[in-house]
Amino acid sequence: MAALSEDFGYYPIRPSKVVAQGKTIEIYDLVGKDTTLFHHSINDGESSSGHSRPDKPACASTASGRPSEGTSTLTHDDQLSGVLEHARVVFFDFDGPVCDVFARLPACGVAKQLTALLSIQHEAAGAKAAETDDPIEVLRIAHETDAAIAQAVEQALTATEVEAVAVAGPPTPGAMEALQAARSSGRAVVVVSNNSADCVQWFMELHGLGKYVARTIGRPSGEPPLMKPNPYPLISAAEQVHVDITLSTLIGDSLTDIQAAHAAGATVIGYANKPHKAALFAEAGADAITDAIQDIADVLAA
Ligand SMILES: [Mg+2]
Repeated sequence: MAALSEDFGYYPIRPSKVVAQGKTIEIYDLVGKDTTLFHHSINDGESSSGHSRPDKPACASTASGRPSEGTSTLTHDDQLSGVLEHARVVFFDFDGPVCDVFARLPACGVAKQLTALLSIQHEAAGAKAAETDDPIEVLRIAHETDAAIAQAVEQALTATEVEAVAVAGPPTPGAMEALQAARSSGRAVVVVSNNSADCVQWFMELHGLGKYVARTIGRPSGEPPLMKPNPYPLISAAEQVHVDITLSTLIGDSLTDIQAAHAAGATVIGYANKPHKAALFAEAGADAITDAIQDIADVLAA
């Protein structure tokens, strides 16, 4: 335990207590005010967006950057147009299409700290979580282990996400234009994220994007199995804006987005913000694939 009050390799962890299901649990706050945020590197996992940023720290052994021009698996504008033309509501995944959540507070470092927190409570679960660099995946593992532990992990993750988006920098290039164009075209716009609603709302407010969206749907608190790829958040979003789910499309940068959209009965536009994703999305049956959110703005504004 003593080591946990010291620098844990990436960020100092601060002891704190939370109440979960009537029990007081000691947790370790990842984002104390003295925390050093920028020592580490960017995740290449599903949760990260990874559009290029010159000053962005990078995880060891990962690839990043925009796909090269002319990637054969990118779809043509007419496919993008066809998908968007049919959609009465446009769902935006948050991390990737709208914000690079862990641009400056890298996901792999956050995952490591959440794993440390989990390990204190459950050694075997901590060992399993050590195999991923995706904070959301650590939360899933915690939930499979124990609801009270998962609640502590989720609270720590949510606090970290809020801090992360505050320093993440501007929206994804073209995101504001795409949100604006979707709204101006008369479509309902909903952000549907596996990140916390708190961090999504904070970022949207910070960058003046809230006026374009009808709803913001974050991960179901305490219910990680209901996150995408579960179709639940999309079905719920469609119900909230009173639009048939089959008249909706999701813009997402993860395989889980493709899976969730198809399971829900929606179409999906894969945002291939890393070179390997275009082929991945094509194989998964994405209805259109683009490497630039600005393309979506351009098509909607045409
Ligand atoms: Mg994403």
